[in-house]
Amino acid sequence: MSTLLVKHAQVLATMDEERREIADGGLLIQDGFITQVGATADLPDTADETLDLSGHLVLPGFINTHHHFYQTLTRAVPGAQDAGLFDWLRTLYPIWARMTAEHIEVSTKLALAELALSGCTTAFDHLYLFPNDSRLDDEIEAGKEIGLRLHASRGSMSLGESDGGLPPDSVVETDSEILADTQRLVETYHDGEPGSMTQVVVAPCSPFSVTTDIMKDSAALARSLGVTMHTHLAETMDEEEFCIATYGRRPIELMEDLDWMGDDVWFAHSVFINDAEIGRMADARTGAAHCPSSNMRLASGIAPVRKYLAAGVPLGLGVDGSASNDGSHLLGEARMAMLLARLDAAPNQSGGELLTARKAIEIATRGGAEVLRRPDIGSLDFGKAADFIAIDLSRLEYAGALHDPVAAAMFAAPVNVDFNYVGGRAVVSEGNLLTTELEPLIERHNRLAAQLLDA
Ligand SMILES: [Zn+2]
Repeated sequence: MSTLLVKHAQVLATMDEERREIADGGLLIQDGFITQVGATADLPDTADETLDLSGHLVLPGFINTHHHFYQTLTRAVPGAQDAGLFDWLRTLYPIWARMTAEHIEVSTKLALAELALSGCTTAFDHLYLFPNDSRLDDEIEAGKEIGLRLHASRGSMSLGESDGGLPPDSVVETDSEILADTQRLVETYHDGEPGSMTQVVVAPCSPFSVTTDIMKDSAALARSLGVTMHTHLAETMDEEEFCIATYGRRPIELMEDLDWMGDDVWFAHSVFINDAEIGRMADARTGAAHCPSSNMRLASGIAPVRKYLAAGVPLGLGVDGSASNDGSHLLGEARMAMLLARLDAAPNQSGGELLTARKAIEIATRGGAEVLRRPDIGSLDFGKAADFIAIDLSRLEYAGALHDPVAAAMFAAPVNVDFNYVGGRAVVSEGNLLTTELEPLIERHNRLAAQLLDA
């Protein structure tokens, strides 16, 4: 048994049931799980290892519920900078179709490094195309090096251009290939136990890039294997129109028809969801991954985040893929969620209450845990996995904001974290990523990105 004592945090915001914020707070951790939370004076004096976080804010690790790591290779691509979703996809699909296993490996490490430094301890990644020799195995193996919890998806596209879909035929797969590989990956890598570092998610790309057959078969397979399901839904008005024109259904009705509702399902974006559909998502405990930067970047729209919260829809936060953000800064994304919800509250928009800083942090922590169906993470509480981040409050950006350090984390300019621990293991210490060398990784990533566009 190994113990870690965290002590003297200036403020430790637990995000537990009572949302306790403890001055001079600390944690006792045994074998990766929290066994005590409280004031430093109430904790033991010694442990195998001690971490003094005087002058720091401590929060639960943030959880990213939607990403496409591979898109870090295609940030700011000139032809895709000023396009809406469908034209953006048409520009990028041929570039992505040239990726190999090496691109998956390097982009996974790069995205996870950026996430770790910006406060993420658990990341979901939606990988749905496997061109050339690439496989999900490449992502899972590469992810282990960085040390965050990874929910990797065996995504899919099966409706190519010649069948009325959006992606080129070269990147779509057959139903039998998709289902067989999904089963193999779940059986090889999925760990559903508390403290799990690797989970596999069944995740067809979107209703406009797969057949209804693969949606139904994927749901049946996921439930037979006991894993969660994810897809893009109602991201843009174009997609809503496509859904109605092609299937004669609104997006949520279509999902109900395809057995895609339940507490084992969450959708990315969910911008064009009406009030009745919000009620149906809440009743089914079906979650949403809110991706504010991407929704602004692609001029998609504003997701009804405050309505989701009021209705009790499980709501997590996502940076989305790096070709539509174009960053993986999770703490900054939580701030963006707060600000975009406030814009939505403007008198000439939806009006209503302002989303608070603490609510934004809650979406990024507890909300993400609920969306990913991870009761073992999302707050600093007895029995939870020891996933926490710490920010040095003496920094330039927080000067003058120390009346409320928790709020400062959202209101002040987004910063990288100084410490990031996953299951009691240091991934970031004193602002440095401990698990990989950044300089050679960035150099290799840039070289591969340039080759991908030049080909
Ligand atoms: Zn996405």
